[in-house]
Amino acid sequence: MSSSPEPQDDRAATHGAARWHCTCPVCETAADSTPAYFKRAFGEPHHFALTSEGIADALGYCPRHGAELLVREPLRRATAQVFEQVVPQVLALLAEARFGDEKFQQVYFSAPHACPACAYAHRAVTRQATELGRKAAWPADPHAALPQPTLCNAHFQLMARSLKPERRMPALAAHAERLDHAVRAIEDLLRAGLPAETSPDERPALATALGLAAGAGGAYSAAVAPPLAEALQACPDFEQAVEQACACAVCVEVERARQRWLMAVPLAVAHGLDDWLFLPTCPEHVALAAGLGDTAVMATVAAHALHVAGEMAHQQVRTLVRAAESEAEQAAARIVRWGRRPRRRPSGPPKPPPPKIVRCAACERLAIAELQATGRLLRWLQGSRHRHAFEGGWGLCMKHHAQAYLLSPKGAVRSCLAADQARRLTELVRWLKDEQARLAQNEPNGPARDAYVLGLRRFCGFG
Ligand SMILES: [Zn+2]
Ligand SMILES: [Zn+2]
Ligand SMILES: [Zn+2]
Ligand SMILES: [Zn+2]
Repeated sequence: MSSSPEPQDDRAATHGAARWHCTCPVCETAADSTPAYFKRAFGEPHHFALTSEGIADALGYCPRHGAELLVREPLRRATAQVFEQVVPQVLALLAEARFGDEKFQQVYFSAPHACPACAYAHRAVTRQATELGRKAAWPADPHAALPQPTLCNAHFQLMARSLKPERRMPALAAHAERLDHAVRAIEDLLRAGLPAETSPDERPALATALGLAAGAGGAYSAAVAPPLAEALQACPDFEQAVEQACACAVCVEVERARQRWLMAVPLAVAHGLDDWLFLPTCPEHVALAAGLGDTAVMATVAAHALHVAGEMAHQQVRTLVRAAESEAEQAAARIVRWGRRPRRRPSGPPKPPPPKIVRCAACERLAIAELQATGRLLRWLQGSRHRHAFEGGWGLCMKHHAQAYLLSPKGAVRSCLAADQARRLTELVRWLKDEQARLAQNEPNGPARDAYVLGLRRFCGFG
């Protein structure tokens, strides 16, 4: 077996620990959904078939939920049993003859973003957000206070999607006003000068802005899984990682990009570099950047994310206003048509283009790093010597295998990816069975422990 025993890390302790006060009740539901999902999926053996089907259809969990499962020691036996059932289902899709068939496409194309635990959380938060939107009375005046409880930006947007247009417009206008207000408060703080070690608790404006931009933020950790940390040190280039690392080489490259981005954020803030190139806007990366601890970074990152969110909310309001106006015009034209031929409407000044929505700089960088690493791997595998070296390395996690396999040219490279992954999964299921046998004989320690860790790494990557 190629993997070595890993020390237990303490990321479980950091997961779920909020670093600033967040009033969003939907964030709380999202945090509670992870233990609830694991209890449901791995708590009762009669759920295992359904759990394994969900994992096989998603080709594993996202790295964050993989890491969450890894630190749940009491679920070890159940997890091993479930993954034993997952492997044959995935192996059936790996036969090269299935490449491109309907089920294959359904699973492989959605794999990069599919995760049964995220889907479970999404259902729970959507239910709650929709219910909150249904109950709330939205003020007609955008400057009026929003109904309580106040949601973080992401969950407010989720809730707003469920509202009818006539209720969505005042709700979004009031939300946009709230975002603008939070940005102004941060700008005032920055102008006044913030001591470097100020915590969000000492500045309510900062805590409010971070809660709005990143929610509770406790689910995200900047910690690096031990095999990735080792690989980053030992393998300065990608080809070395493919041959030598005890980890998926694409995961290594994505982590390298994440570390570079995290180092670039304080420099960008200190030197006033272009915001859109470095600063994040999604809750996960805002939380990670805020976790760097520097007050100026926290404030600048929160202000940028809220500014972008505010622009988006204003744009949504303008779109709804235009739609309402055009509907009113069409209704008037219908009335006119009863009496006489409608006159051609004079063409007014051209409408301004919609404002560009700035995407999260970190998400963009990681997506590019992932694609570049996959492309490099596919080019590298064209040499038979390199294919041999790849087979001697750790291989790929299922999510990155799916991406590489889909992009691979027909022929030796595609055959190598299919055969290599099938061989590793076949080995994995044998080790998982050994683990079950050892556990049944009350021998919890020994090499079998690696099978469980390796199974989670193979399917979920290295979150
Ligand atoms: Zn929230
Ligand atoms: Zn997930
Ligand atoms: Zn990977
Ligand atoms: Zn992001």
